[in-house]
Amino acid sequence: MNLQFDNTFVRDLPADPEPRNHRRQVQGACFSRVDPTAVSEPRVVACASEVAEFLGLGPDACDTERFAQVFAGNQTVPGMETYAACYGGHQFGNWAGQLGDGRAISLGEVLHHNQRWELQLKGAGPTPYSRTADGRAVMRSSVREFLCSEAMHHLGVPTTRALSLVATGDSVVRDMFYDGNPKPEPGAIVCRVAPSFLRFGNFEILAARQDHDLLKTLADYAITTHFPHLGEPSPDVYVRWLEEVCRTTAVMIVHWMRVGFVHGVMNTDNMSILGLTIDYGPYGWLDNYDPNWTPNTTDAGGRRYRYDYQPQIAHWNLARFAEAIYPLVGDVAPLEEALAAYSQTFEHERRIMMAQKLGLEALQFDTPQLETPQVETPQLDPVAEDETEGQNAGGDGALVGELFEVLQLVETDMTIFYRQLANVPVGTSTEPTSDPSDDELLAPLKEAYYSPDEVSPAHRERTLAWLRRYVARVREDGTRDEDRLARMNAVNPKYVLRNYVAQLAIDKAEQGDGSLVRELLEVMRHPYDEQPGREEYAAKRPEWARHRPGCSMLSCSS
Ligand code: AMP
Ligand code: MG
Repeated sequence: MNLQFDNTFVRDLPADPEPRNHRRQVQGACFSRVDPTAVSEPRVVACASEVAEFLGLGPDACDTERFAQVFAGNQTVPGMETYAACYGGHQFGNWAGQLGDGRAISLGEVLHHNQRWELQLKGAGPTPYSRTADGRAVMRSSVREFLCSEAMHHLGVPTTRALSLVATGDSVVRDMFYDGNPKPEPGAIVCRVAPSFLRFGNFEILAARQDHDLLKTLADYAITTHFPHLGEPSPDVYVRWLEEVCRTTAVMIVHWMRVGFVHGVMNTDNMSILGLTIDYGPYGWLDNYDPNWTPNTTDAGGRRYRYDYQPQIAHWNLARFAEAIYPLVGDVAPLEEALAAYSQTFEHERRIMMAQKLGLEALQFDTPQLETPQVETPQLDPVAEDETEGQNAGGDGALVGELFEVLQLVETDMTIFYRQLANVPVGTSTEPTSDPSDDELLAPLKEAYYSPDEVSPAHRERTLAWLRRYVARVREDGTRDEDRLARMNAVNPKYVLRNYVAQLAIDKAEQGDGSLVRELLEVMRHPYDEQPGREEYAAKRPEWARHRPGCSMLSCSS
């Protein structure tokens, strides 16, 4: 198998000297060398051909027995050096100490066309960081990680990628809802791919242990390898590095908000320093627009990681990262200033994003700024209720604010709503003649309602009032309807990886049939295109899926 390895992580950073694979606290090292544990009968369920291609694997590489063996962890390729990284993290707001790659094993870094790609097997067996768990992953969570990584990429959201999904032939016991009902499930392994899987937590663990020398070694490695444009590491460069992490994270979060993605477990060990969406666990997609929704049943009480709190949580997480690198800078003020770059970028990008979603040239209004948490703030203050966009602003602020209200009056599918809004006739195709009638305005949106019967006269009036305002606003720009449609359809996807659709693919994959996984991979390669014959995958959540585990409720068990 033709993969060119160049393993900077294990070459430049100190390894755990203990060679035995047993669970422990690992001090003074960034990783432990560990081999995957062999599985009994590896079988490739799906493979992402674009990823195979940018790694330099040939076009038919995935179809071979060798591929299945390598990406199940049963065989190695010359140049591979397998290891698990040491990191810590804040979980649900509390410092959790050492976590680390408990079931992810990196295979090394492939260099192809001057691009560096770390390959990592998730579910490849225990490591020193496995704590009390088994180092394995089940098919359902692996299908979800595989498909969503690729879906997010094609949606234009910064993310880690996925090369392969391999069934192991072994079963894994899981108590899916932690309610005393463990049962065996089919096991699987995903090979995921990213320039680096470094997380905020890799730095936090070293700061927490006051291992400042190693903290500096790791930061310098990260900067010279992955942020070379920042120049030679220095206190000033560490600050500019934080600022860049703030900006890329802000951009990522704006994309999540755009497509209705809820990560579900935004712990600091699940935050990439490259601003990539990482660690697909109990994530979900908004079906009906409900800003308070979280897919993660483990978080149902506090809803810390609910959809519209994600921007604030990312900021809080960045403050933890800033604290971690504080020893390298020695001064709080510049770190706080760098953290402010998050809010600035977020507000700027969100404004552009909302304008695009609505097909407007630009939004003109003052959005309230997110509060910048202090570097040493132990907890994020709850966001005041009146901070929703546009409540104190007129013009476009009110337009957007009222839209978010209207979307919640009755269950309205977020994805279908925006897609259909592009079909609302504004009447600028040719010369504006007569105003569109009420029925013409409302007709495209009907498809977005979960229970059309619930649309009361009052709701209809309020929606119409918003639509009239929207029409007037589009006319101010003078954008022709067909141009608006094209513009909106480029940012408002037709297809997202709906929770229930992914679950259908899981049901089949668990029976040994990977065809729907592969079909969905194809669908999600073109999420903005109309795909005749595949409309069923764009359909709103059916009633049976409303309360079905996996479709609306997920736990961290995976
Ligand atoms: P997560 O919340 O999934 O990002 O995982 C948090 C921590 O638990 C990480 O250190 C994981 O490596 C570890 N972990 C999760 N599941 C397992 C497992 N089945 N075996 C070993 N470690 C695990
Ligand atoms: Mg994780």
